Amino acid sequence: MDLKSFIRDIPDFPKPGILFRDVTTLLRHPQALRYTLDTLAEKVSELSIDYVVGIESRGFIFGTPLADKLTAGFVPVRKPGKLPAAIYAAEYALEYGTDRLEIHQDAFEPGARVLIVDDLIATGGTAKATAQLVQQAGGELVGFGFIVELAGLGGRQQLPSVPITTLVTY
Ligand code: IMP
Repeated sequence: MDLKSFIRDIPDFPKPGILFRDVTTLLRHPQALRYTLDTLAEKVSELSIDYVVGIESRGFIFGTPLADKLTAGFVPVRKPGKLPAAIYAAEYALEYGTDRLEIHQDAFEPGARVLIVDDLIATGGTAKATAQLVQQAGGELVGFGFIVELAGLGGRQQLPSVPITTLVTY
């Protein structure tokens, strides 16, 4: 199935000059959604995942059903101030300023095998910060999964050397 044909391009969102790859058009299509989840699950099946970590918020949409398919648990990495129990935080650079992500301190048993999932990797800053959180919380990072990779931005070069699975490349 050609997943690219289900992803919509929106020029000048969220800012002028940015071409936004919109996966809502993939999500609303039953066969495309199932194919996406089945294909990602199959590609990471050999990693023996204990937990899928999804990055707020589109990482939640793909990460939770993926975890279910892998018979793994799901752990959310959230924007600041949303998680109720004790947290670890990681800051990362944006084009202007910084942003911050948080994880529950007790998210994993020590050495649990963790896959980080998001809809898209661009510069890699978000996924790299999430990898730091997984490490802080005592998980063993064993892979990344993204539906879309914007390859020209060099995101995968920012990430720790574990397998990176992507389904669509621009
Ligand atoms: P990065 O940190 O530069 O790799 O940006 C990745 C994060 O920004 C992910 O959480 C994506 O959901 C979001 N993002 C950046 N560009 C796009 C896009 O074109 N479509 C959808 N999400 C995007």
